[in-house]
Amino acid sequence: MDKYDFDLFVIGGGSGGVRASRIAAGYGARVAVAEEYRLGGTCVIRGCVPKKLLMYASQFGKAFEDSKGFGWQVSEASHNWERLIRAKDTEIDRLQRVYEGLLRNAGVVVINGKATIAGAHEVCVNDVKFTARHVLIATGATPEIPQIPGAELMATSNDVLDMEHAPERIAIVGGGYIACEFAGIFKGLGTKVWLVHRGSTLLRGFDGEVREHITGEMAANDIEMRLASTVVAVERKRNAYLLYLGSGEILEVDLVMAATGRRPNTGGLGLERVGVDVDAYGAIPVDSYSRTSCDHVYAVGDVTNRLNLTPVAINEGHAFADTVFGNMSRRTDHAGVPFAVFSQPQVAAVGLTEEKARVMHGAIRVYSSVFRPMHAALSGRNERVMVKLIVDAATERIVGAHIVAPDAAEIIQGIAIALKAGATKADFDATLGVHPSVAEEFVTLRNGRNSTQPQS
Ligand code: NDP
Repeated sequence: MDKYDFDLFVIGGGSGGVRASRIAAGYGARVAVAEEYRLGGTCVIRGCVPKKLLMYASQFGKAFEDSKGFGWQVSEASHNWERLIRAKDTEIDRLQRVYEGLLRNAGVVVINGKATIAGAHEVCVNDVKFTARHVLIATGATPEIPQIPGAELMATSNDVLDMEHAPERIAIVGGGYIACEFAGIFKGLGTKVWLVHRGSTLLRGFDGEVREHITGEMAANDIEMRLASTVVAVERKRNAYLLYLGSGEILEVDLVMAATGRRPNTGGLGLERVGVDVDAYGAIPVDSYSRTSCDHVYAVGDVTNRLNLTPVAINEGHAFADTVFGNMSRRTDHAGVPFAVFSQPQVAAVGLTEEKARVMHGAIRVYSSVFRPMHAALSGRNERVMVKLIVDAATERIVGAHIVAPDAAEIIQGIAIALKAGATKADFDATLGVHPSVAEEFVTLRNGRNSTQPQS
């Protein structure tokens, strides 16, 4: 008789936790997973999946407008938010059942409730204590709201996905992934959108030219930009809200949405009982095998605040299970992970920004191109796409690729494979383009410029 109830107890049934559970169970481990809300986690229930469905819905508005230039005559189109949310919910329910089935078929015990660490090798859910040889924390992160007067009046991405009506006017606070994505969604669905960001360009951490470009494109798409703007307070005014800006301007809207970052879910987990460290941001520091400061406790996904992306959490969970239960030493390679912001247009990248590449490689060559996509020729839309490659001058290897364009996410995936394989600029040049496409620009870029680190 084993001295523990389970070989692995997973806290959190999101992308990382579910993958780790299934793989560990596949190796013969006795696994339990506790989830306090719905299996599937942020990505499936209130993140990537519902967001992408809403993004698809929002693109029709622009397509109807653009279709006129291609000879279509479209009578007045209208959108029914309630129907969209119902359809989205049906799909999310289906995916949740898929997740439940995956765990059931793998023999994983699913427990509904909030789990806390009760002591060494002990986890408590709904007042029942379980023992486990290993514990995996995969509790994700939760939206953070700026602490200003009236903060409680602001909605987050969690709330807007379940709203009963679409707002006619919305102010979105923040300039990151979620702010950019929801600005595009609401604009496309016919809402008047203000984007209030404290910085002067969107998407901090992205390539400088890319940031300038997407900021301009979103403004050209009739999103009212309030850049270098702070938010001071929110007030309710009958059925509307007033958002007070540092500039003195007051925006009257039907909804204020905070998209100002996400904080790791580590509060109330009992981590201190087993000596699991938490950093100043509330994230759990781990080594490259996702092991925390406590030997038998591991953590994967957003709760570790490494690279907060679903495929990364899945890979971390899988690598953990391979290492601890599969007798294989595996760790996630966090370098060269492609990523995309589903704004409109989309922003996607893999590898280094120009700024980082200069620091890491010294001399680099930069190839970039901004042009009017063919679609705009007939739609008449004032839009520009951007493609950029960064090449290490010493080795000729591509160290960064960036694109701002519709379907940028679909394009960057293939480019990421080339970078992983160590492709050089000559390899790109030797590849023929797919014509006519935006993506072909990646293999036709000429006349790079040298870019070196400014001497300090
Ligand atoms: P981000 O960290 O991407 O952006 C947060 C934004 O809020 C920044 O622009 C930041 O400004 C601003 N901000 C932070 N605090 C304040 C404040 N107190 N007052 C005003 N502005 C503030 O967070 P998101 O919430 O957009 O997304 C969280 C993470 O989730 C992302 O970083 C990403 O890892 C992941 N994600 C990934 C997606 C994808 O892969 N497509 C989609 C959605 C989320 P500043 O830049 O000045 O710090």
